[in-house]
Amino acid sequence: MCSFYLRLERSLYWKQICCTIVAGYLSRLISNIIREAINSIISELADLNRITKIISLEEHFATKELMEGPGRNTRGPMETVAKFSLGVDPETLMQRLLDVGASRVAEMDSAGIDVQVLSLIRGIESIEDKIEALKFARTSNDFLADAVRQFPNRFAGFAILPVSAPESAADELERTVKEYGFKGAIIHGHSRGRYLDDSYFWPIFQRAQELGVPLYLHPAAPPEPVIRASYSGNFPQEITGLMATAGWGWHIETAIHVLRIIFSGALDRYPRLQLVIGHLGEGLPFMLPRIERMFPAKLTKLNRPIGAYFRENIHYTLSGFNFIQPFMDLLLQIGAERIMFSADYPYSSMREARDFLVNLPVSPHDRERIAHSNAEKLFRL
Ligand code: MN
Repeated sequence: MCSFYLRLERSLYWKQICCTIVAGYLSRLISNIIREAINSIISELADLNRITKIISLEEHFATKELMEGPGRNTRGPMETVAKFSLGVDPETLMQRLLDVGASRVAEMDSAGIDVQVLSLIRGIESIEDKIEALKFARTSNDFLADAVRQFPNRFAGFAILPVSAPESAADELERTVKEYGFKGAIIHGHSRGRYLDDSYFWPIFQRAQELGVPLYLHPAAPPEPVIRASYSGNFPQEITGLMATAGWGWHIETAIHVLRIIFSGALDRYPRLQLVIGHLGEGLPFMLPRIERMFPAKLTKLNRPIGAYFRENIHYTLSGFNFIQPFMDLLLQIGAERIMFSADYPYSSMREARDFLVNLPVSPHDRERIAHSNAEKLFRL
């Protein structure tokens, strides 16, 4: 009897040990499976936001020649923007603008930006003499070509053109595209009060279309009479300054410029021409449904419905408008295939722009399109 109990006790003892071992093994197995599943979900989520390359399209520089010459009037507004909107001292901003070398590349590295397509800030428009304007454009473009040659994998260029002399401007565009591999040209708004809807300027459109390069239509302040009529009022001069430019006027001015170009029929005449505008479309996506309602083809006499020009002839960049609401508006109106990344450096932060891009509520495929593949396609980068 006694030995029976002893045997039973021993066998229970071994069963208990076996159970403990099996349970321990199972629990380790299960926790490993769960851990692996969680890790793979985490890495998949990280993969979703991973961007393979960032090309930035509205990135500015200045030259000493510009700042001491035709661009000297831009110093005032620049100081206001630096002081009130960026919170940096104007000298720092100026240093960043003048630098197209190793320090800029280091800034790009620390912000995770692979390529900047550089463009000169405005100023050339103030040169009245057409030969002087061409000379200035050539010198500036040669300077930019040198910078690109120093860092061919990090920089590309948009030409600056003597817009007031359209034939020379077209030739200079061709020279810089063919000799320097420039990706197109930047045009800073109206040319001493004349806008590109004027067929006087269309040789530039024609050549851009022939060369297959886009024109970047960058904001500029409205003409003086417009500033006096619309932007001056019962408020301080400093408000007028910003209201006519970075706070409002630049964007409205560019939106009006785009509308004028479309209404002129220039894009029917040059249907393959591509324009690029910044700042998430300069307010146009917000107005687009209204524009489509108010300007039917039987009124405009254009070849296509007006919305088609916005979706077939224009590309849109962010330019420091790291704001989700207008981005969603642009995405819904136009679609991800025409939206491209830009930071508007040094007027806005590259890092902030990158963070905005990383967190956009778009598919991984669309994020890649916005980050680089749309630009690669458009600019054959
Ligand atoms: Mn800009």
